[in-house]
Amino acid sequence: MNAATVCPECAAPISVPADVFPNEIVQCGDCAIDLEVVALQPLSLAPAPEEEEDWGE
Ligand SMILES: [Zn+2]
Repeated sequence: MNAATVCPECAAPISVPADVFPNEIVQCGDCAIDLEVVALQPLSLAPAPEEEEDWGE
């Protein structure tokens, strides 16, 4: 059984494995943003920090 929610960036539906764990990173299949699992009940995702990209000025 998968859990489902929507992407906070583009509102596309996202399903994650039922055994997903907090702080796991999942990727939106629509906008390809990395999302961090911040809560499981209910499932909540937040944009993950871009640790591999240098967004500094
Ligand atoms: Zn998205």
